Amino acid sequence: MLVNKSLKAKLFGSSGVRGVVNVDLTPILATKIGLAVVTFSKAKKVLVARDTRVSGLMLENALVSGLLAVGATVHCLGTVPTPVLAYLTRKLGADSGLMITASHNPPQYNGIKIFGANGLAYGDESQDKVEKIIENGSFGLTVWRNIGEAVYFNESSHYVDLIQKKVKLHKKWHVIVDLGCGATYNLAPTILKNLGCKATAINAQPDGFFPARSSEPNEESLELLARIVRELKADVGIAYDGDGDRVAFINEKGEFANLDHVLAAYAAYAIQKSGKRRTVVTNVEASMCFEKMVEAHGGKVVRTKVGDVYVAEAMRRHEAVFGGEPCGAWIHPKFHYCPDGILSSVMLLKVLEEKGELLSEFISKVPRYSTLRENIVCKNQAKRKVVERTGEQLKTVFPKYKEYSTVDGIRLALQNGWILVRASGTEPLVRLTVEGESLKAAKEIMARGVPLVRKLAGDLEK
Ligand code: MG
Repeated sequence: MLVNKSLKAKLFGSSGVRGVVNVDLTPILATKIGLAVVTFSKAKKVLVARDTRVSGLMLENALVSGLLAVGATVHCLGTVPTPVLAYLTRKLGADSGLMITASHNPPQYNGIKIFGANGLAYGDESQDKVEKIIENGSFGLTVWRNIGEAVYFNESSHYVDLIQKKVKLHKKWHVIVDLGCGATYNLAPTILKNLGCKATAINAQPDGFFPARSSEPNEESLELLARIVRELKADVGIAYDGDGDRVAFINEKGEFANLDHVLAAYAAYAIQKSGKRRTVVTNVEASMCFEKMVEAHGGKVVRTKVGDVYVAEAMRRHEAVFGGEPCGAWIHPKFHYCPDGILSSVMLLKVLEEKGELLSEFISKVPRYSTLRENIVCKNQAKRKVVERTGEQLKTVFPKYKEYSTVDGIRLALQNGWILVRASGTEPLVRLTVEGESLKAAKEIMARGVPLVRKLAGDLEK
């Protein structure tokens, strides 16, 4: 992320470039990204799309200028969800796809996420190469006669066809869908209705100020949706983030469905249904109920760094049947490797239908654990060192640990829970996350972890 300059932050984070518009992410930078992506990838055909943010069109015009100047043909799709752009990049045979979005961040943010010809988001290696080209200014500008052409049309009907061809619903689900004024505003209600749902849409006007709710779907931002589900006695409430790669659910009682629980229940279902593929992927932050559910059905769990790109890469490597993060970003590899909110919501309906269950029943088998979080103030220059040193000493604090992982920060799996110590990507903090089989266990683990991190942070301040 671009938000903290004192870190001498890299331009690209785990989700491309992201920052405050006209402070971190300017049209000048957008143009350079366009120039650099084609210089790096030699792309001839590039797709560009945006979410509903106020700055979207400004950044699109700048980005497209850069792309044209290095000779690419650019297809501008207008406002579509990120997974639709990712899917169309592969489907339409483009060499690259660029999405202008800051996902679930507040409206003053925007970003650019890059996808390759295979529809996968750029990993660290490709992003580093693009960044190097921007740093050096070594752009492959073309001669005037070879400047690219921009064409404008919405091709999202291919995506609608894909879902309708592959997903059939038989029950007439009564669904309240909260679009949060984001990029799913027209596609999600259309698809749900085409699948035979009685779908009522709220916050369905595209509005880059996000006046209705935060673009991050969580218990707090979905209070209104929960109330409407309750009052209209709907079967389920569905909500997406600003660019439609995340989804969250409200159950038939009008209660927010814990994101970890839905993810774990769905992963267990995916393992049950899969043939020889026995692996599912999640990140280091997900609840251990994920392992409990998946392993009970003979599945294996791989944990990655936080970020959907890492989950997608691991899924490809391990030929996983499903993967997702507890923020609501779920990946269905039979369709594509970009987290997809609309697809995830219709897949969940399909599974509930098949099992003859309502959402609260579906997640009722997931064990409930207690999670605690604590932040310890630590200078930006010292926080990574603190995390590193924590690793060496945490093992002596928990000598009976089951598993030690440095995939992202330091994570120790214990007999009755786990502890994760990570440096914040954006703030002068070291973050401790603990989960215990009971609240008492979680508190005990936290009480042993905090003094160690505090001491190390204190030592390095001196
Ligand atoms: Mg998103």
